[in-house]
Amino acid sequence: MGILSGLKQFGLGELENASLYEKPDPKDIKKDTDAPVIKEADILFDKKYVCPICEAEFKSKTIRAGKARRLGTDQDLRPRYEGIDVVKYDPIVCPHCGYAALGRYYELTSSMQAKMIRAGICAHYKPVQMDGEIYTYEQALERYKLTLANAIVKKAKASEKAYICLKSSWLLHGMLEETAETDPKPELLQEEREYRQSALEGFLAARQSEAFPICGMDELTVDYLIAVLSMEFEHYDVAAKLLSGILVSPAANKRIKDRARDLKDDLRKKMKEQKNG
Ligand SMILES: [Zn+2]
Repeated sequence: MGILSGLKQFGLGELENASLYEKPDPKDIKKDTDAPVIKEADILFDKKYVCPICEAEFKSKTIRAGKARRLGTDQDLRPRYEGIDVVKYDPIVCPHCGYAALGRYYELTSSMQAKMIRAGICAHYKPVQMDGEIYTYEQALERYKLTLANAIVKKAKASEKAYICLKSSWLLHGMLEETAETDPKPELLQEEREYRQSALEGFLAARQSEAFPICGMDELTVDYLIAVLSMEFEHYDVAAKLLSGILVSPAANKRIKDRARDLKDDLRKKMKEQKNG
């Protein structure tokens, strides 16, 4: 028994064996002052909105333009920034009536949609407090779920729903990355997969029925995304066909061709594995 035993009940079992005192290394201290840690709250500000449904004013946490430093992009186009998961801040939620949408879809397209949201969301909505300097992953996930519920109720296009599902899967991915070592959550992994399957279904439907750009993406980008998702669900033939299309397209720039080529390499490996397994 150590003096730190009992921390487990707070979920801090990992700390039970932590050493109490550490000799400060002067080099480390200097490094800390040289490169201050970027705080998530410093990258955010409260942006004012007027709700298109209930007309109340409210604030939603938003990324400060130019403040976040982009580190890169995952294979599925999930953006990575230093010190913040920007995906958490996409849904805009009216805390008074429950209206919610991704920024791109915040303005309603018809009075019919407003009517459907009033009946399907606002009439039942119970406000949830979201104070604090940042949104936690749990809060962000609730905001995404509310956004998806709004999209279903207002009979949004397949692409909008697919985009919400894709971003929800990005959010869960970030959540899993943050907690994987200390607290693995298989149910989150399963949920991530379900969102990705729904995103794939929606993007395939949108590709058949909607005009480009779809969710602000051109045809090649959407094809690339469908290829990524198809590969995950072992629809290798679909992925191969889409990637070949990108690689021969005169409209494709170097960046998307490079991405498609990398993905095709992965695809080849997976197909080989399938053959051998
Ligand atoms: Zn409202």
